[in-house]
Amino acid sequence: MKCPLCDKGRLIRKKSPFMYGDIYFDKYDSDVCSKCGEVIFTEESALEIEKKAKKLGIWGMEKKSKISYAGNSLIVRIPKSIAKFMRLTKGKGILIKPEGKKKLVVEVA
Ligand SMILES: [Zn+2]
Repeated sequence: MKCPLCDKGRLIRKKSPFMYGDIYFDKYDSDVCSKCGEVIFTEESALEIEKKAKKLGIWGMEKKSKISYAGNSLIVRIPKSIAKFMRLTKGKGILIKPEGKKKLVVEVA
């Protein structure tokens, strides 16, 4: 099978590690491109990964939020489920950095 991304390499079936952010899950069956190195997890692997994410309570945690004002600053609200999972509390130090113009990364310091 040819790689759907680069259209040059061949896909080789092997186990690849899956990370969700910085959480290591396990190694799962995947097709890896011999040229560009793209990893495509098999359908069964995707299901297993989903199951594990649900077990860890991190599945579908993405939430919409809005920017609001407080005095002269802008405030980003962090949904409760995410705050709980990351053990964020008031006063906790964070590092905010833009990654391009459409992505803002918040790291717990
Ligand atoms: Zn490729």
